[in-house]
Amino acid sequence: MSEHKDFLRTIVEKDLDSGKYKNIITRFPPEPNGFPHIGHAKSIAINFGIARDYNGHCNLRMDDTNPTTEDTKYVEALKDAVQWLGFEWKGDVRYTSDYFDKLYEWAQELVKMGKAYVDSLDEETMREYRGTITEPGKRSKYAERSVEENLDLLERMKNGEFKDGEHVLRAKIDMSAPNMKMRDPLMYRIRHAHHYRAGDKWAIYPMYDFGHCLSDYIEGVTHSICTLEFENNRDIYDWVINTLGLEPPRPYQHEFARLGINYTVMSKRKLLELVNEKYVNGWDDPRLPTIAGLRRRGYTPESILNFCESIGIAKANSTVDVAQLEFAIRDDLNTKVPRVMCVLEPLKVTIENYEGTEEFDAPYYPEDIPKEGTRAVPFSKEIYIERDDFSENPPKGYNRLTPDQAVRLRSAYIITCKEIIKDANGEITEIIAEYNPDSKSGSDTTGIKVKSAIQWVDAASSKKIEVRVYDRLYSCENPDGLEDLNPDSLKVIRDALIEPAVITDKPDERFQFERQGYFYADPIDYTDKNPVFNKIVGLKDSWGK
Ligand code: ATP
Ligand code: MG
Ligand code: MG
Repeated sequence: MSEHKDFLRTIVEKDLDSGKYKNIITRFPPEPNGFPHIGHAKSIAINFGIARDYNGHCNLRMDDTNPTTEDTKYVEALKDAVQWLGFEWKGDVRYTSDYFDKLYEWAQELVKMGKAYVDSLDEETMREYRGTITEPGKRSKYAERSVEENLDLLERMKNGEFKDGEHVLRAKIDMSAPNMKMRDPLMYRIRHAHHYRAGDKWAIYPMYDFGHCLSDYIEGVTHSICTLEFENNRDIYDWVINTLGLEPPRPYQHEFARLGINYTVMSKRKLLELVNEKYVNGWDDPRLPTIAGLRRRGYTPESILNFCESIGIAKANSTVDVAQLEFAIRDDLNTKVPRVMCVLEPLKVTIENYEGTEEFDAPYYPEDIPKEGTRAVPFSKEIYIERDDFSENPPKGYNRLTPDQAVRLRSAYIITCKEIIKDANGEITEIIAEYNPDSKSGSDTTGIKVKSAIQWVDAASSKKIEVRVYDRLYSCENPDGLEDLNPDSLKVIRDALIEPAVITDKPDERFQFERQGYFYADPIDYTDKNPVFNKIVGLKDSWGK
């Protein structure tokens, strides 16, 4: 662990030292109403990370108290994400819905203590009665109901005798509390809806403020870590546990800053809209900040955890630059993946003075990376280079092939341009070139200095691949809505060419296509007949340009 502990670990250590807790128990408590995103990854890293660092454990709990939005497919996606990131929850997955009976008993107990009541005000009046920050609120006349009446109404609410919104159960706290959340917060509401696990048993569902603290208590959670927007809910958290007089050890809530990243959205509501309205191709669309999307794009679990670590745990909200996430994956892949040659936009080059074929033995990894492995790169008279690695009228500082400037074909020979062939529209269709037989990479005796070495593929043996090039999903830093979507966030290149070893030998799933960036064999659409690669991220510096 790093020397500079974050404030959560500082709290945990203090609580262990003082003997407040013998064991640390945390939980990751998502609502299964969407696929988890990189913000959840941060929460996963914190909760599971703290449990691991202090020999405790972390529960995975589905906070499933809203029947209208939840689904098993989201439960599966959440389990998947936690495991993929390399963490294990203790025992079975927990569900708040498994605690509904116990929660209901506690609600009855609060009623019996005169600490909760059934309110029947309409929504608007209720809002009006809450008051404002400067004005105290006003308590509902229904707060005068007797314990017997409240118990009876609550039971009938539970049994489905009333319509949605007709009554609610409220805690009786303080209608003039400076913390507005403490003005008799809602504990239960009526919802006639089928719950994906509890079925039709319940017509009432607990609110977050009632269900969350008690679920933590049931599980013996010690540190209930949540995001900053729940800061004002902490008073209710403590009120519920204290008022019920629950035996220690009891959990305490601690807040940290929510992760936000620019050029994307993180709210599940907005992500759901993008998926449902088909602005993207499903929850695992590689443009999304979902864990499934990042995973399909080619991000590794290590890169995501390193990113979470690098941004630290703060107490004030801020937005992180997406470049920091991109740095993390580049940094991780740099030392891991083979380098190969791929041409995204092929331009044919015929080397008129070359006859026959040969193979170059080229290393997969640069010298500074301690990994072994080479492949055979076939070469012959007809090759392809990247279209923009040739310029007929080069701008100043252009280092690649021009009518007057030679270039090295990476791992092969130096070539010069002899003739440019164009079609009727003036488009360049082919370059006729000449190679220097004494310039073979590794045994070059020519003394010729070239300014760059470019990637190429052999025409006869190269394989056609599809490449999906992703750009930012939104075109502005702080996107507001659909109007900010980047119309060019996905570019599909259907006739890129790659050297054969990548397809036939499959040395890895992720590659650096030299001078292009990092790419990942799409785990779903890739077939040997139609190989598909996703661009993960570009290179920081493209050498030779
Ligand atoms: P959203 O607003 O995207 O729906 P949420 O907070 O409602 O998110 P939950 O499924 O309830 O999503 O969150 C599960 C856990 O993940 C919570 O503890 C929450 O605090 C944490 N979490 C969610 N989003 C972020 C984020 N952007 N940064 C850090 N933690 C997050
Ligand atoms: Mg939530
Ligand atoms: Mg939410």
